Amino acid sequence: MSKGVAILGSTGSIGCNAIEVILAHPDRFVVKALAAGRNVERLLDQIDRVRPELVAVSDEETAKEVRSRTGRRVEVMWGEAGMVAAATHPEADVVISAFVGAVGLIPTLRAIQQGKRVALANKETLVAAGEIMTEAAKRSGAELVPVDSEHSAIFQCLRGERRTEVDRLWLTASGGALRDWSREQMMRAGVQDVLRHPNWTMGNKITVDSATLMNKGFEVIEAHWLFGIPFDRISVVIHPESIVHSAVEFVDGSVLAQLGVPDMRLPIQYALSYPERWEGKWPRLSMDRLGSLQFRAPDPERFPCLGYAYEAGRAGGTMPAALNAANEVAVDLFLRGRIPFLAIEDILVRIMDLHEVRHHPDLETILWADAWARETAAELAAKGRVAR
Ligand code: MG
Repeated sequence: MSKGVAILGSTGSIGCNAIEVILAHPDRFVVKALAAGRNVERLLDQIDRVRPELVAVSDEETAKEVRSRTGRRVEVMWGEAGMVAAATHPEADVVISAFVGAVGLIPTLRAIQQGKRVALANKETLVAAGEIMTEAAKRSGAELVPVDSEHSAIFQCLRGERRTEVDRLWLTASGGALRDWSREQMMRAGVQDVLRHPNWTMGNKITVDSATLMNKGFEVIEAHWLFGIPFDRISVVIHPESIVHSAVEFVDGSVLAQLGVPDMRLPIQYALSYPERWEGKWPRLSMDRLGSLQFRAPDPERFPCLGYAYEAGRAGGTMPAALNAANEVAVDLFLRGRIPFLAIEDILVRIMDLHEVRHHPDLETILWADAWARETAAELAAKGRVAR
């Protein structure tokens, strides 16, 4: 029996890889729905390749264009209603949640509430709304399976293990494009420097987050929610080769790690195949040709964003949502050449200072914190309050 799949964020980096995985196993999957933003050409190509019943796009204009070019072959919806329809498609057993940003929150929650397996690649789901999502999953019985390489590694290392016997999670980080840069050099880092990621090919936003280590900070918050481990027992280690995708240390001192080539198709496939493993048609790791692997502690002076994420995670409530939203605004401004690289962290510090945390927020309160942080971050940048 083939499984029905819905892909939220199909035209992004994860979405495209997910389609490759699905097309590599044509007997196992049927794509029922695709949701994307405004990348019409890529979406049309995907519609031809996977023949979904439903597609959702961000706005009415885009929907009209897609409709006019696909005819009656596929139902086209738009906006939040469209995204939710894709996420809750009655024949989708698995929902791949790979939107970038807060737009993924509501559709992902609806999929969880319906008890579907949710393959999570959308960071905001657990960063901004970890408590709501994990509670909803408990109630509906939905399985949250991570797609991110680090969390997939931990998820795999924890199979068959008791949570009470876990001592520490070790999240590995490549260190990003500026791993060995001094603060003085970072002051002058341009967009092209920051987008030159050593190991992974990803979207622009996450590549910037990787250079600030904010991405790793968000992954710490995600790991906290996903695996129920307190922040002081989650550590980050810089591992430039990105071969060890993460590790778990147990109470007896044993450390289990998951290794593989840095290729997102592997964790995406595992999120779909779990609890089974299917043949991987991707490049393999040759352990006899690996040579040496390096590990070292991250430098908190050069990469303060990692510390901000721990701080926000410990503060709890709406703080991670505010941090995440402010970061989206700051990264966007940087990518458009409006602020220098180090102004990203200035904006984040200011937002965390200004934010009044609300505890145990509902989704509405989280969206309020998100909107507040976006507006405030944009104001701070416009007033030049963050220029160095
Ligand atoms: Mg990752």
